[in-house]
Amino acid sequence: MERLDAFMARANALYYATHDPFADFTTAPEISQVFGELLGVWAAETWRAMGSPAPVRLVEAGPGRGTLMADALRAVGAVAPAFRAAVDLHLIETSPRLRAKQAERLTATWHDALDTVPAGPMLLLANEFLDALPIRQARPGPDGFTERFVADGKAVDLPSDLPPTDGVVEWSDASAAFTRAVAMRVAADGGAALIVDYGDEGVNDSLQALRGGKPADPYADAGSPDLTAHVDFAALALVARDAGAAVAGPLPQGLFLTRLGLHHRTAQLARGQDVRGAAALLDAAARLAEPDRMGRLFKVMAVTHPDLPEPAGFSA
Ligand code: SAH
Repeated sequence: MERLDAFMARANALYYATHDPFADFTTAPEISQVFGELLGVWAAETWRAMGSPAPVRLVEAGPGRGTLMADALRAVGAVAPAFRAAVDLHLIETSPRLRAKQAERLTATWHDALDTVPAGPMLLLANEFLDALPIRQARPGPDGFTERFVADGKAVDLPSDLPPTDGVVEWSDASAAFTRAVAMRVAADGGAALIVDYGDEGVNDSLQALRGGKPADPYADAGSPDLTAHVDFAALALVARDAGAAVAGPLPQGLFLTRLGLHHRTAQLARGQDVRGAAALLDAAARLAEPDRMGRLFKVMAVTHPDLPEPAGFSA
């Protein structure tokens, strides 16, 4: 018998250690190179607003195949060489298998968590990282309020002394702890973090399991499907402000990427392609930005040093 968060942590550690996750789902940097390029340029602009500290820790949490960071570094090498020269790259990744993939493309120092990343001004990027972190769930049952556990591949709801609410409540102590650590770091040492993920301001009952791109039973076969949950940006914003950082957003990914130049950059790339290649680039951009595709479900939130101006993309 394990509480849901312990089960999810164990299942996902096993999943990421033994699978190519990109066989089960795809992510924004795998859809279009422009995603990583724009986040790189965002980091370079934020670095200038910080007073161009050198070195600066550029940190990515959960880098997957390393695609986002490879695209970001290529872009800033071209448009912001002083930032590129100041970058000291650190990757937070627990999967040995994915660390090896990332090492094929990136020269970096790897960490299990933020606490071993050296102190100093920092820019952190995290795309689809927090959705993989463990959650807890509580709900009313026939005999009172309960919290979710997992035993023998099945959900079990046990009596709980958590304060009762209507319906399912869901929260992530792990996401809150990560966000608190990031916020304390940028408030103390300077810098900013950009968190991109699917979710909303307040979430409930969003645990989902995917295997081969199809929904699966989240409780059966630990480590076989990928387990994720929606990110509660309102909860994380509270944690970040409480730790002394400023928060911008959350706002829809489509709006943020459009303001940073998604369509302009995509059109520029498309001009160098044949008709099929150009159509594929335009469709990839549409997939990231359109409200009924990834543009609205995905949100972007920045956690910054309180003295920094509002970062790029958060207002028109
Ligand atoms: N950001 C990438 C990958 C998203 S998949 C992209 O957008 O394509 C989630 C990533 O987080 C994987 O690299 C996974 O191995 C990593 N990860 C999951 N749980 C983690 C944890 N607790 N600590 C560190 N990394 C973790």
